[in-house]
Amino acid sequence: MNPDREKQQAFKGSILFFTADPDRSDSQEAYTYYEEGLLLVREGLVEAAGPFAELAETLPPETDITDYSGRLIIPGFVDTHIHYPQTDIIASYGKQLLEWLEKYAFPREGMFADAGYAADVTDFFLQELFRNGTTTAQVMCTVHPQSAEILFEKALEKNLRLIAGKTLMNCNAPDYLLDDNTKGFHASLALIERWHGQGRLSYAVTPRFAITSTESQLEKAADLLNSRGGLYLHTHLSENHAEIDMIQTLFPWSRDYLDVYERFELVGPRTTFAHAIHLSPAEIERIAVSGAAVSFCPASNLFIGSGLFNLENMTAAGIPVGIGTDVGGGASFSILKTMAEAYKVLQLQGQSLSALKAFYLATLGGATALGLADRIGSFLPGREADFTVLNFDATPLMERRIAVSETLEERLFVLMMLGDDRSISHTHIMGTPV
Ligand SMILES: [Zn+2]
Repeated sequence: MNPDREKQQAFKGSILFFTADPDRSDSQEAYTYYEEGLLLVREGLVEAAGPFAELAETLPPETDITDYSGRLIIPGFVDTHIHYPQTDIIASYGKQLLEWLEKYAFPREGMFADAGYAADVTDFFLQELFRNGTTTAQVMCTVHPQSAEILFEKALEKNLRLIAGKTLMNCNAPDYLLDDNTKGFHASLALIERWHGQGRLSYAVTPRFAITSTESQLEKAADLLNSRGGLYLHTHLSENHAEIDMIQTLFPWSRDYLDVYERFELVGPRTTFAHAIHLSPAEIERIAVSGAAVSFCPASNLFIGSGLFNLENMTAAGIPVGIGTDVGGGASFSILKTMAEAYKVLQLQGQSLSALKAFYLATLGGATALGLADRIGSFLPGREADFTVLNFDATPLMERRIAVSETLEERLFVLMMLGDDRSISHTHIMGTPV
């Protein structure tokens, strides 16, 4: 047991967290902010968050207070969609989705047959999450069982809250990435038995997208999903027009893309669809009814040229939305930079993303999308004390811009438009700095 986790810890700084979606409630009631606050943590869980002057008085005199004065303490970022095997092909030039997969993603993913390479990438990947203030991630691995095995093993060592799974792929990709249907099923089952529910780990049944699975594999995916309680379903939906056309060809009976996943009973409250850009009103309506969540991946959608996610429609329908970096389709691990891209995607549609909404999406919104709002995403008592300490003055330009910012919202907006990994001062996992 880490000694830090047994005793009380106290952190002083400005404290911000959300308890509701600012677009769906009175925004004043959606968040709690203490300009001079104190966060108390015991055994890795939030004990209290409140004004420093009040809470400090309650502490025994010998309490060691970590001083983050002048910085902003927020719940750790939640990345609802990311591919760790694509770390080394981030920022690869010039292709749209299907060609990008063939030219860059698939060959690189093939290298995860080598467990040594997978371990090396995992170490870097986890460090990069922490360097960017991300404390929870939903991660796609490769088709190789060891790609998930190694990631789970190392995430457990770091006590990270992680949802991951090996991809299921048995067609329409290079041979070296294809699974035998039965073997893929049993390998997934073994991973579920070994890792799901261990520490803070959960398993996501992960058909990459409907294009790379036959109908019989999608059927097996549903069997896997129902094999244990609390499993997730993580896949892609409606990212690119050529992808949608191919779905129509491969599944000619389908009404639309969503229908393919519906037919195989893969759509429910524990499902996350990455992208969900080119949806019909009927698809949006059916996702809302199902309780499934979507991952908004603006950096990737701009980089690969896929299209513009319509946040207003999703929010109006009541669909839970989280932010996803979608590395390597997205060219940054930074949730702050991804928020800036989200702002631009929405500007192009006449929808302005407020800083409050953006920080909500990156924390409690992501936690809600993953069904984890009772564990993470806020500083309510009993929540797991995963948090990120942000530095407003990370660059000379930010320092000048912050100096003339008057309100909290203005300062948050500067963080999301100008901030990146340099703005992350510290990241804590259940109270412990990493
Ligand atoms: Zn993706």
